[in-house]
Amino acid sequence: MTSAAEGEVFLVGAGPGDPDLLTVKALRLIGMADVVLYDRLVSPEILALINSGAERVHVGKARSNHSVPQHAINQLLVDYARQGKTVVRLKGGDPFIFGRGGEEIETLAEAGIRFQVVPGITAASGCAAYAGIPLTHRNYAQSVRFVTGHLQDDSCDLPWHDLVQNRQTLVFYMGLVGLPVIARELMAHGMAPSMPVALVSRGTTPEQVVVTGTLDSISGRVEASGVHAPTLIIVGEVVRLRGKLDWLGLRDEGVDSPDGTVLRR
Ligand code: SAH
Repeated sequence: MTSAAEGEVFLVGAGPGDPDLLTVKALRLIGMADVVLYDRLVSPEILALINSGAERVHVGKARSNHSVPQHAINQLLVDYARQGKTVVRLKGGDPFIFGRGGEEIETLAEAGIRFQVVPGITAASGCAAYAGIPLTHRNYAQSVRFVTGHLQDDSCDLPWHDLVQNRQTLVFYMGLVGLPVIARELMAHGMAPSMPVALVSRGTTPEQVVVTGTLDSISGRVEASGVHAPTLIIVGEVVRLRGKLDWLGLRDEGVDSPDGTVLRR
């Protein structure tokens, strides 16, 4: 049951890293929250914008190292709200895209706690824009699919046949470790080995690195580059447009390494 004394929970998307990509609503909410629970993916620059009176709770998560289990996070949100607090649950990107936001609001709804969801810029949008790769394009891609690349124990249970379609851009979240399997399976299901691929590491931050290649070369190039998580993988003809956009001067910089594979923003 909701009572007047109860607080409210805001599930807030913090965007992919650049604090300028926060929404005005997100900024307002972290300015007034009593308590902020945040993920590892929320950048330090964004944490610096939280009001100084707010309690801050770091709740995870690195790959395979969930510092606070999901059910405990759900319960914390309920507990803080029952203390009458304005609770902000700050999540990287958008709360409803691979963010487990659905599970958190289920618990809140069951407990009768008031909540709102505030969308954020998802990694695919942020990384694509800052890497100069349009996700759709009249001539090259009429659809885009967001896919989880977090493969359970190397098993290949993604609908590979569906993924291999003409004029479709694929965006893999959580795909760094699984990249060799992803590339292998896409080729095994008929995608051309020459299909362009870009991997964006730490997109939209000053540490952004973009590694480009083709389906048959990308794993080796990424390994050689030593890039760090989080990374996003974009597969499709649209990746070729990156060069054109650079040439048109639409991005800030565009410094190619000597072999042309690693580009920094
Ligand atoms: N809710 C988030 C996604 C969480 S899943 C969103 O909407 O963006 C975590 C995955 O998001 C990472 O493994 C990575 O694939 C991607 N990601 C998040 N931030 C990123 C960034 N700054 N650069 C590259 N990939 C990022």
